Amino acid sequence: MRTSTYTVDTSRLDGVLEQPVFRAVEAEAAARGWAAFAIGGYVRDVLIGRKSKDIDFVVEGDGIEFAEAVAKRMNVGPVHVFRNFGTAMFMVGAEQIEFVGARKESYSRNSRKPEVKPGTIQDDQERRDFTINALAISLNPGSSGALVDPFGGILDLDKGLIRTPLDPDITFSDDPLRMIRAIRFATQLGFVIDPPTFDAIKRNAYRLEIISAERIHTELNKIIATPKPSMGFILLRESGLLQQFFPEFVELSGAEEKHGIGHKDNFYHTLQVLDNVCEKSNDLWLRWGAILHDIAKPKTKRFEVGHGWTFHGHEDKGARMVPAIFRRLKLPLDEQMRYVQKLVALHLRPIALTKEEVTDSAVRRLLFDAGDDIDALMILCRADITSKNEKKKERYLRNYEVVIQKLKEVEEKDRVRNFQPPITGQDIMLAFGIEPCKLIGDIKSVIKDAILDGVINNDREQAWQLMLDTGRKLGSEPVAGMERPVPSNEKGAGAGTGSLIED
Ligand code: ATP
Ligand code: MG
Repeated sequence: MRTSTYTVDTSRLDGVLEQPVFRAVEAEAAARGWAAFAIGGYVRDVLIGRKSKDIDFVVEGDGIEFAEAVAKRMNVGPVHVFRNFGTAMFMVGAEQIEFVGARKESYSRNSRKPEVKPGTIQDDQERRDFTINALAISLNPGSSGALVDPFGGILDLDKGLIRTPLDPDITFSDDPLRMIRAIRFATQLGFVIDPPTFDAIKRNAYRLEIISAERIHTELNKIIATPKPSMGFILLRESGLLQQFFPEFVELSGAEEKHGIGHKDNFYHTLQVLDNVCEKSNDLWLRWGAILHDIAKPKTKRFEVGHGWTFHGHEDKGARMVPAIFRRLKLPLDEQMRYVQKLVALHLRPIALTKEEVTDSAVRRLLFDAGDDIDALMILCRADITSKNEKKKERYLRNYEVVIQKLKEVEEKDRVRNFQPPITGQDIMLAFGIEPCKLIGDIKSVIKDAILDGVINNDREQAWQLMLDTGRKLGSEPVAGMERPVPSNEKGAGAGTGSLIED
């Protein structure tokens, strides 16, 4: 069966050899009498006409010395040397050119680090992960341009097959990360994993425990960055790999039924939402927002007589689950994570808005809470409409359009997206002649609510008046001369990015 959507065309190799770096490698190899090859992802991508920027070369000899000689020959540099890895790299334009000496690796079961010795090109190809990644182009006199393909990689490329060059149990136990890489390449290229290779993944999935979270999330994020990551996640779950590093996601699987009432399978629902988001945005962290938006559904699930299945508070609980998941996967814990948390926490708000009449006040509050992330939130929210019931779906989509329209109107009118409080804590202390205390927070929140509810306009004049009234109501008299707004200080009201959320 042929599953590849790419056409393999070896004539694409001709153009490649004309490139200066290939010419230089060829000449240097001939001068030294060393065997040299282009290898790996670059060769694979050329053959299927896929864009690829990095080129890897292997020489039977010292890769670092060879790299320095080629760079000199081409008059480029600097050459970056990684002695621990025996590799060297330099740039030619935007292309990253990497050199390594052919090596032979032997692993022992109780060590993650292989013993590495110089080897032949065949040794080097054997330690590669998949047949399609083991393809090499000879750059040697007499055979320059010939494909070196000891494992039938070109046939697999044509068939669209991910297969290990050696016994898959050996390839995967040597480096368990290769199991995720198999799924990553299958998802990126739309290839099928050869059944014996896939069975070996299932057998070896538990060995992923020796792999660092960084290496895992690097591959995972490459899956998430594809146009249709659902395929990758389905394979990750089927193989048992997902269970190893992201059990919360596996927990979403399944649809329970009680008294004849079922709920949707939130694993597939989430994947649908993720694919939908991917059609609209390349933002990795928005995609993570989609992955995690319903993550707390299993933990909040109840069957309530008269209501059926409910997941009350799953958005807040979900947002609170994000840090532990990010920490385990060693994903960034800074603003990217907070952005994901915010998307999860707010994902129900836009559609919930439409349950009643869409009031300006509710829209203003949503804009205030989402700030600049409102557009991302609306992409997630629209992607979340996956009902199979066409009538329901249509109604939701119509409501969604109403909210979008309203958001535009309110934003134009009131500009609360990046709300800056017209009155600062400093103003309040000055007006009442007080030190920092609870009253300040109370007054600020009254002002914020009044603005968001449209009771007063977002301006200093009206907010000042409300500040005085509120202070008096709470038992504080303003200092003489403070009846009228004082000029706002530069750092305070109306300046900077002050948001009332942080206050
Ligand atoms: P891309 O750069 O598009 O992600 P690639 O195939 O170039 O794809 P890299 O991770 O850059 O993938 O690796 C370059 C080459 O090194 C691969 O094609 C493969 O031959 C080899 N390789 C990389 N990682 C491994 C690994 N864990 N085990 C075996 N071989 C590997
Ligand atoms: Mg690469």
